[in-house]
This record gives sequence, structure tokens and C-alpha cells, in this order.
Amino acid sequence: MPEGDTVYQSAHRLDAALAGQLVSRTDIRVPAFATVDLSGERVHSVASRGKHLLMRIGDTVLHTHLKMEGEWRVHRPGERWRRPAWQARAIVETPTAVAVGFDLGLVEVFPAAEEADRLAYLGPDLLGADWDALEAVRRIESAPEVPVAVALGDQRNLAGLGNVYVNELCFLRGIRPTTPAGEVEAVPLVDLASRVIRANRDRISRTTTGVDRRGERLWVYSRAGQPCRRCGTRIEHGLLGRNDVELRDSWWCPNCQR
Ligand SMILES: [Zn+2]
Repeated sequence: MPEGDTVYQSAHRLDAALAGQLVSRTDIRVPAFATVDLSGERVHSVASRGKHLLMRIGDTVLHTHLKMEGEWRVHRPGERWRRPAWQARAIVETPTAVAVGFDLGLVEVFPAAEEADRLAYLGPDLLGADWDALEAVRRIESAPEVPVAVALGDQRNLAGLGNVYVNELCFLRGIRPTTPAGEVEAVPLVDLASRVIRANRDRISRTTTGVDRRGERLWVYSRAGQPCRRCGTRIEHGLLGRNDVELRDSWWCPNCQR
């Protein structure tokens, strides 16, 4: 699942390719918005908010979320797309670029005036200019019984962390993912979350270990049964969540995380 840094990078690429240009064609391939036509409108900006991507075009916002397998690609006009056309959910074309959103988990269009209200439920954006660590801490502490890994991944507390960062942050702080949020020091945890995702904001390959070599970039995520990089203990794996719907994979070192 894409994390906030991936979405941030996508937004920057899209902004560089589209901002300021007039749209020559749009094709929104979801039934509710299939008739939307933004051709002739100007692209003002493309920005991320947590894991949400906002394309501001004319008086309208094209709001998308990558969910599991989604991505936005920028092609030159006439260039062969890098994924099959049937996976395309949204296309925004200008004279110099064709932006294609493949396999997007969410596509919706709404008036620009509604943007703030529509996203008001999101917590502070870790990669936003208005990042507010204290507010994120306040939100996490408001539900002390919730497992810390669930609290970190809850976009209403702080926006931008996916399951990779959630698991890695728990390791880096020496905390079991199942520990109730109220038993964890939220301030240093939130501070670390901000520093780690910002350090990766402009990187091609995400790393939490500081090592940029294939297979050595993460401490615990997706490493079940492998030795802990710090102590050699086998990494454990389990499912965690408040209910069946939000179950997420968790990995931890039973020795380093207590
Ligand atoms: Zn360990």
C-alpha cells in the first residue's frame, strides 16, 4: 500500500507536468463521474494531503486515493502507457502531458470550495506545510485503549503513514504493535514519524534503517521468520486491528519490542 511519501512524490511529479496548463481532455472512468469534462480548464496545482491526491482544475478538484495498487503515471502525448489501458481510472491530458491514474482506489470530483470540508476528518499531514505534531499527539491520546499500530495508521490521528511506516516506527521505538496507545509516549513517537517520513520524502527507495541496499532497507516489515537486524531474534508476524475490516499485518521483534 502506498505511503504518504509515495503520494507526495506523485503529486510533485504531476504538479511539475500539469500545473499552469490548460486541459485538452479528461476521461474519468468511474460511473458517477463519467460525464465530467474539464477540458478548457486550467490545472492550478496538484497536491497531496496524507495519502490523498488532489488535482485542482478550474473550479473543481479531482480527488483520488491510490489504495492498494494504484498509481499515477505521466506520459508524453502519443507515448505508450506503462500499464494496460483497462486499468486506467482517470486521464488528464494537456498539450504536453498525459497523466493516467491506474487502478485508483477512489476517484471523485467535487467543487473546489468543498475541499477543506471534505478532508476535514484527516489528522495533521506529516508532509504538509501545516504539520501539527501536538494535534496528532492529542488525537492519539484521545483513544488510549487502541493498539498503537492501529492509532498510527488511523488517518484521522495523523495523515500519511501506511503499514510500512507503522511497523517500522514501532520497532524503532521498541514498542510492540499491540501496546495500547495510552501506554506509549506519544510525543517522541510522533516526532520520529515526522522525521522518518520527511527523510524519505524525496528518496526513490524508502529506508528506515539508513541503509540503501536492496533487502536491507527495513527493520521488520514483511520479514517474518528472518533474524532481527539488531539482535538476531526471529521476527514475528500477526494480524492486528479493532475489527475484522481493518485487520493489518504486523511484524515485530519479540526481544527488541516489549
Ligand atoms: Zn531484535
